[in-house]
Amino acid sequence: MAEHPARLVVLVTTGMEEYQVKLLSGIHPVLDAHQLTRVIYMDWGETADLPGDLVQYLRLAEPVGLLCTNLSGNGHLDRLTELARDLELPLVVIGADVSDVSCVRGDNATGMRTLMSHLLDDCGIRRPVLMRGIPHQQDSVQREVIFREELARRDIPVDEELLVDGLFVSDVAHQAMRTLLQRRRDFDAVVVCNDRSARGCIGALADSGIRVPEDVLVTGFDNDQDTLQWPGLTTVDQNLPEQGRRAAELLVARMENRGHDASAIAVPSRLVVRDSTSTRPRSDQEQLTDALRMVETARAYLGRKDASEGLARAMQAARTLTEVIEAFTSCLSWIKLRRCFVAIRTDLCGDLMDTPTDLFAEDEDAPVGEPRPVLTVRLLLDYRNGTVHQPPPDPFPAHQMLPDPLRDQLTKGFLVAAPLSMGRREYGYVLMDRGPTTFAFRETIDMDLSRALDTVFNRQALEAHAARLEQAVERRTEELAKRTEELQSEVSTRQRAEHQLQLANVELHRAAMRDGLTGIANRAAFENHLVQQWELLARVHGSLAVLMVDVDLFKTYNDHYGHIAGDDTLRAVAECLQRSVNRSADLVARFGGEEFIVVLPQGDSRAGLTVAMRFQAALAERAIPHAASDVAEIVTASIGIAVAHPDDHLTPMGLIATADRALYRAKQLGRNRAVLFENDEPAPPSSPAQTSPSQSITRPELA
Ligand code: GH3
Ligand code: MG
Ligand code: MG
Repeated sequence: MAEHPARLVVLVTTGMEEYQVKLLSGIHPVLDAHQLTRVIYMDWGETADLPGDLVQYLRLAEPVGLLCTNLSGNGHLDRLTELARDLELPLVVIGADVSDVSCVRGDNATGMRTLMSHLLDDCGIRRPVLMRGIPHQQDSVQREVIFREELARRDIPVDEELLVDGLFVSDVAHQAMRTLLQRRRDFDAVVVCNDRSARGCIGALADSGIRVPEDVLVTGFDNDQDTLQWPGLTTVDQNLPEQGRRAAELLVARMENRGHDASAIAVPSRLVVRDSTSTRPRSDQEQLTDALRMVETARAYLGRKDASEGLARAMQAARTLTEVIEAFTSCLSWIKLRRCFVAIRTDLCGDLMDTPTDLFAEDEDAPVGEPRPVLTVRLLLDYRNGTVHQPPPDPFPAHQMLPDPLRDQLTKGFLVAAPLSMGRREYGYVLMDRGPTTFAFRETIDMDLSRALDTVFNRQALEAHAARLEQAVERRTEELAKRTEELQSEVSTRQRAEHQLQLANVELHRAAMRDGLTGIANRAAFENHLVQQWELLARVHGSLAVLMVDVDLFKTYNDHYGHIAGDDTLRAVAECLQRSVNRSADLVARFGGEEFIVVLPQGDSRAGLTVAMRFQAALAERAIPHAASDVAEIVTASIGIAVAHPDDHLTPMGLIATADRALYRAKQLGRNRAVLFENDEPAPPSSPAQTSPSQSITRPELA
């Protein structure tokens, strides 16, 4: 059976509960008779739009017909109708009226009229409450219309205060009845628009000590077996198997082009009388039958609860996809399903332990109905008749429902397909048929399985996300460390550059302060030094001496030996002067031309003369020939010495001028000598005047 079942009918519905099971009991025989296979797709119901995998399935699986019940999602039915029209797919809707579409529904009128007649005529009711369903909902409105018509027919006025809204659900009905009971208790029956809200209504009456049927009669609608009502609820049966049968027949007719026009079929409903409206004592046998029915319902209900709890517990501990499937498999034996298949999106399977990395990246807002890439899945569970088989490992397109080797399963009986999804995230689907005893495991199975998968995938995605973040942080940290290093090296480069600049500046400064020819301090350096030392002199008690030195007859020397030789001689003179001072604060500078100046801080006349004599001795020792000199045969120099004391009221310029005058005096006296002027006066005779006898005499001149 490798062929795809050629004639496939898809039934889209909102669950697999009593309502659907009853419909199916009418649908199956008709489809069987026409060799039509079927897949039942359960719409999750809470998604904003039709589930994407349903849309894709209908596009790709090429069914020949589509049946659907009134879907819970807002607008789902319209979208599905549109899609069927696009795909030219015959469609029959059950339980709702859709214009231009073939519909089968229960006839509210017949059953409701019989019910009202039963209450008003058989039971003598005169003041009934109407517990409506959802306002403006077709069924609710039609039931209300008949309620009013039947009262009017018997000239019983409608007490508008006794019309309340139960919204078809138990808890809302319970609340509505409690509120009503606070105002009114003068009613004799409650006509409820469905069985489920009748249960809430009876609960509220019981809470107020009002007995059913002794004090108030209550009726429902739908004939739901699982409302667990004691006493049994009088209700209207919509004949769901008949609705299913008629819908299937209508679909076959549409498929065979026998009915082109949309037709609406109303299946007559009928009254089912039970104890909630009983006005006569029930026989023991009747009561026993009701009790047994209720026990059976309760047993099934508790079984469902146990199964739900067991499944939830088993899957709670699952931390990986493999563990989810294992936990689910371990529960299968007592869920009593005959067959069960679980398919999961291939991209989420990985090696079954892998992290799905694209879960968060999914485009959840992708418009539904747009062509999507074909979704492939992998079968992770193949359970048939009590045995777990190794599922075929190859991925297959989701619209095939089962992989090739298992496709014949689709033609046996029927399989219910439920999407495994959470919100708009679709993980895959589960296919199952129901076991012999229970039918309402649908919520347990696909909801629990979806929840467990969601937990696993979310956790894995979060872990992957966390790992990605960690990597990003690591990378960033590395980048920062590298950048810091770069910055540090930039800083040290800059520091080095600044240091070099400083050195260069110092060097520049030093160069600016140095005489280019002789390498000793220049005039600017001399002036700085003199000003500094002058300030010091004002604070410290002492004296300061300067020597003004001028090479004798140097013009002649240049003329005789040339300027190059002259320069050499100037350097030699500078050296001799430099060697003649020994204190760190002493400064020898070139004053200009062949003139030099020496500053001797803390120097007095004796120091000045000592330095002068040392210099003359040094110069004599150098014995630089000066053939053109009439003073000596070697180069000589004349020296003017001046000394300043703090209380002299001298200025630095004044001191230099004094030294200059002393020098002039030395020249006048015949050169090659030193003349000392102290306090702007020629030195007293006591000043030392001794020089080497071989040299021209150097002595202090008296004015
Ligand atoms: P006196 O004994 O009176 O000082 O005579 P003098 O020739 O030394 O004096 P004068 O002021 O007439 O001449 C100074 C000479 O010094 C003139 C100039 O050529 C020479 N001179 C000045 N600066 C330099 C220099 O840098 N290098 C050389 N070679 N000669 C210089
Ligand atoms: Mg001169
Ligand atoms: Mg000179």
